[in-house]
This record gives sequence, C-alpha cells and structure tokens, in this order.
Amino acid sequence: MAELAPYAVSAGNSRGRQIAEERPAGRSEFQRDRDRIIHSGAFRRLEYKTQVFVNHEGDLFRTRLTHSIEVAQIARSIARRLRLNEDLAEAISLAHDLGHTPFGHAGQDALNECMQTYGGFEHNLQSLRVVDVLEERYASFDGLNLTFETREGILKHCSPENARALGELGARFLSDRRPSLEAQIANLADEIAYNNHDVDDGLRSGLITLAQLDEVPLVARHLHEVRSAHPGLNARRVRHETVRRMINTLVTDLIACSERNIAAHAVASLEAVHAAPRLIAFSEEMAGAARELKAFLRTNLYRHYRVLRMSTKARRIIGELFAAFMSDPRLLPPQFQQTAEQDRARSVADYIAGMTDRYAIREHRRIFAVEEILI
Ligand code: MG
Repeated sequence: MAELAPYAVSAGNSRGRQIAEERPAGRSEFQRDRDRIIHSGAFRRLEYKTQVFVNHEGDLFRTRLTHSIEVAQIARSIARRLRLNEDLAEAISLAHDLGHTPFGHAGQDALNECMQTYGGFEHNLQSLRVVDVLEERYASFDGLNLTFETREGILKHCSPENARALGELGARFLSDRRPSLEAQIANLADEIAYNNHDVDDGLRSGLITLAQLDEVPLVARHLHEVRSAHPGLNARRVRHETVRRMINTLVTDLIACSERNIAAHAVASLEAVHAAPRLIAFSEEMAGAARELKAFLRTNLYRHYRVLRMSTKARRIIGELFAAFMSDPRLLPPQFQQTAEQDRARSVADYIAGMTDRYAIREHRRIFAVEEILI
C-alpha cells in the first residue's frame, strides 16, 4: 500500500477511543473498528432490512447489508487512489446504516413522526447510538468503543441541540468544521452506491424502464455508449454494462475533482482538512447530473404506486407498534422493559429501530392479529 497522504487519518493523529484499550496486535486501530462492526448484531440484521423494496419482495434486490458492502467497496477504491486511510473509510461505510429502521425511508419517517414530542428519531444519530450504547458485547463497556474518527464519520448530520449533547463529537457542527476526508468519501460513496443500485433494482423489478431512463442524461449517455459498442445485447447485460459505467464515471470524476480541491486549498495536514470547506466532491457538472438522476428516481421509483403501497403498510406497522408499546410497556421484551423505566419512548424507538422488516411484520402480527391468540 502506498504511503498515506499527510492529511489522511492515521494511528499518529487519531483521537483514540473513549475508553483506553491496548493497541491491537497485527492490525490497525481502524481495522479493529471494522472487525467490531462486522461482528455486531446490528450489522447482521442489515441483511433483512431494506432500502426501497421490502425484504421479502425478492431475493435479488439490495438489502442494507449488500448496500453497505457496496458503499465500502466504492469508498475503499476512492480512499486508495487519494492515499487516504482505506481501513477507516471501510469502517465508516460498513457502520453508516446500522441505525436504520425496518422498511427503509418509510420506516425512518414513521418512527421520527412517532418520536416528535420525545426528541425525534434520526437514523444517523441512531447508528452512533448502536455503536456507542446499544451493542452489548464487551465485559467492561457498552457499545463497541470505536475510535473517534469512525464515530465522527458515522455522524453525518446533527442538529445543534443534539450536537451540544454529544460534546466533543458534536463540536464540529457548532463550529462549522469538516470531518476527515475518509468520512467525506464514505458519505459520497453512499450516494454513488444507492443511485446506481436503485437504477439496477428499479429496472429489474420492472417499476422503471430503460426507455424512461433515456430521458436522464447521466444514464442516457452510458446507455448509448453500451448500445453502440454492443448492438443487440440483451437487456440484462445492457443494464449491468450501463450501471458499471456510471459508477466508474462518478468515481473517476469524484477522484479528479477532489484532487483538484485538495491542491487548490494547499491542504497539508488533518487539521487543515477540518478547517477547509468540503474537499471530497463531484465536479459541478457531475453533481448536476447526479441531482437529475436522484430527482428521476424520486418521482418514478420512490413514489411509484407499488412502492407507496409498501411504505403505507410500513408506516402503519411502525405507528401501531409504537403506540402499543407506549401504552403498555409490559408488552416489550424484558431488556427493553428495564430501560423503559428511565425513558419509555427512547427504549421503544430503540427496540423498533433494531427490528428487521420481517421481524417487525411478525411482531405486529403477534400483538394485533386476533387469530394468533389461538396458537
Ligand atoms: Mg446508506
């Protein structure tokens, strides 16, 4: 591996862990973070949580687990090219969705609505809560005791109120400073991954068509390239060839533009990264093209009537579970009953957020389906 750039996060400039531990033997601190994330229960549950499609809709669609792996792959490639810390970029990518509710965005919105008078629910903050508090794996501390830099990368957004409560980790939101370049990379790798896999899954599901995508310049350009290079190619291969070219275009543009930004700001240290504006970025032209693709997906896929039917059911399941547990916390499993004594709403939110799609459906049935009484 090439030597890290002077502005990369390294063992030398890391702010370490909240609870001091011995240095790991034979692996870096950030590899240890990644390994702890992979061995967590919340990480395994990502396999049965969805982004757009409900988990049992089909085995071919992305889940939050495969999404997180794709984000990590893209982030590593970019980090390596920019001589940044690949292990850190990977750890942040694998952890970025740990706090997601079941049923994708619909689930997050529903839980946030339920939590309005109790401090709200934000999946970003919940991912941090998973690694800081909720995972119970170690004898001497709650959570995974990850490095400051991995935790900083997980916390992409934060309200000023929450930032104040988070102390050192929230400080950058109050003083207008940027996270590490590795965190900035994970953030945009997330965007590259979901825009592209939603095109792929959208086409595969038949909810959107290649003809529609011909209207979206970023896709149309690559679609045209594939069709002229390979006339008569079947639809499945056209889809894959187009998506892989788009990922490549976006990654290449991001690397080139970020290199220019780093040079233009004469960044020479991690401290300079924190003080500079965001340096990891697409070119203006590419950012515009990506925005158009997002707008297309919003209108044609995320608001497709079949997706909306799923989202409506998801909202109902989450809303009804929340109401049931709030009115009678004795329905909660014992470990959540215990924490509910201090903060009922937050414990209910933690329990619901940790559910997979199918677990939430089953739990809803166990509580509400009259016929279940007979079993
Ligand atoms: Mg994501």
